[in-house]
Amino acid sequence: MNDLKNLSLPELIETLQPLGLPPFRARQLFSWLHQKQAVDFDQMTSLPSNVRAQLKEKFIISRFVPCRTESSEDGSRKYVFKTADGHGIESVLIPERRHLTLCISTQIGCAMGCRFCCTGQGGLVRNLRPGEIVGQVLCIVRENNLGERLPNIVYMGMGEPLANYDNLITSIRILQDENGLNYSHRKITVSTCGLVPGMQALGRDTDVNLAISLNAPDDRLRSELMPVNKTYPLARLLEAARSYPLPPRKRITFEYILMRDVNDSDRHARTLAGLLKGIRCKINLIPFNEHPGSEFRAPDEQRLLSFQSILVEHNYTAPIRRSKGADIAAACGQLGRLDGEAAH
Ligand code: SF4
Repeated sequence: MNDLKNLSLPELIETLQPLGLPPFRARQLFSWLHQKQAVDFDQMTSLPSNVRAQLKEKFIISRFVPCRTESSEDGSRKYVFKTADGHGIESVLIPERRHLTLCISTQIGCAMGCRFCCTGQGGLVRNLRPGEIVGQVLCIVRENNLGERLPNIVYMGMGEPLANYDNLITSIRILQDENGLNYSHRKITVSTCGLVPGMQALGRDTDVNLAISLNAPDDRLRSELMPVNKTYPLARLLEAARSYPLPPRKRITFEYILMRDVNDSDRHARTLAGLLKGIRCKINLIPFNEHPGSEFRAPDEQRLLSFQSILVEHNYTAPIRRSKGADIAAACGQLGRLDGEAAH
């Protein structure tokens, strides 16, 4: 049976039409599902009982409940969910100085094969459905009573969001709907390893923030680290970044994971500064998260600071973002590790 959580409001209106239910009933239903988080049609007291009976016959309401949670010493919390077909999905709630950030997953596994990421190693199992993407947010908002203080959402967990484009867009529409959680575009960021057509479509179809996982300033190194670069090399990627429709006061975020003796020299920093010239952006510097079996190491502190200072001299905002949750395998590139699955 159809899970109603997979539908955006316009899709719900269309689905209910053949049942003779007008758009205002769809809006009421949507609000029960996403604002009040009803788990049963019988809770939907603003709907007449014959409508509830009709819905019960045709649809189901999925509800995500974590099968495991783990808390890190730094305050971040990892949630592990099981899908109906038995796969693990992971999300991480991260406390920042002034707000909370929720990192969510869009795929089980990932086909992109980035060398520094645990996810790439298991390949892609399947795309998550819109209800499974939104379900992570609904559950964590509910469990932590965050209705009045919604966390920022980053699509940066397991999987490449733009490789699951239609479901990604539906999930964004559901989150932004005023009859649901009513998310502002300012609080949503989609992160990609560089799927250029998807970036162009995202800029056309939404007003959310874009982050690009860059990690190398030249094609040779980037192709070694991230196979996607062979299909969409830096010139194409940065052309897409330059033409991304950015409203005033917004900028693109580039994520740069620093790996010792791989991409962390002063020369790399200077090349990076030249490469991004003219793009309204900030560069998040993320020291690599070492984990058992990984072939890469984190740079030492001096190297990190030297790399940062070169970017700052070139007038970039380049904060060092230390990954949180490393002790619970929730840091960047670690999600899904325990299950042999993926992470962005
Ligand atoms: Fe996939 Fe992101 Fe990991 Fe690359 S970094 S393999 S895109 S999850």
